[in-house]
Amino acid sequence: MELPRIIVAIDGYSSTGKSSFAKLIAKEYNLVYVDSGALYRGVTLFALEKGLIDETAGEIDLPGLQKALPELVLSFRNEDGNTLLYMGERCIESEIRSLRVAGYVSPIATIGFVRAWVDGILHKFGEKKGLVMDGRDIGAQVFPDAEIKIFCVSNPRIRAIRRAREMPGADIEEVMKNLLERDEIDSHREVSPLRKADDAIVLDNSDMTLDDQMVWFRDLVKEKYGI
Ligand code: C5P
Repeated sequence: MELPRIIVAIDGYSSTGKSSFAKLIAKEYNLVYVDSGALYRGVTLFALEKGLIDETAGEIDLPGLQKALPELVLSFRNEDGNTLLYMGERCIESEIRSLRVAGYVSPIATIGFVRAWVDGILHKFGEKKGLVMDGRDIGAQVFPDAEIKIFCVSNPRIRAIRRAREMPGADIEEVMKNLLERDEIDSHREVSPLRKADDAIVLDNSDMTLDDQMVWFRDLVKEKYGI
């Protein structure tokens, strides 16, 4: 089904199923899917590999990262219907989903120059519209004029179980602790905090399957665009 060339912004807390939902919307309505969190994860992996995060002290070398960032090239590639993140010519999709990266991504995402760098990439995607993007600040900050804004929430334990499924062998309690820590940092940072845009629709998907969410979304589209 074809939607007009619009932007669908899906924000919300960590592991509220935003990306699975966004991917299905993209597929059904022929939109480009952009996972903004993957870019913050990519920057985090880059900083770790460059030795710019002291993992013992938990400190980030800000001047070092600012200097090195222009050499980082991140891009999305579509392979067999999956969107994968690449650093240069290397696929980093599974590495960016590790708990090690998850442990530092929210502090990295508080840094103003990192956000500006990521926003530059996101705005490039926005030029052509026709996309669905998930993140924390998409509807409120990155694309305040997005035509559809959804803010996902769900129960923390359900979120941890969903995320742990992507990380074989992961401990649910540890995953939940990381999610809650990231929520806390994401909601309270100075630059572009996680916030529901005033005109976003809240979707509590704790008791919804992805199919249920798609039924909900189709109703929304029907109401707004008559298709
Ligand atoms: O969506 P995902 O959980 O992969 O995002 C990883 C982290 O990236 C989030 O916890 C948040 O700190 C950061 N993020 C952000 N703004 C976005 C998307 C993600 O700050 N638009």
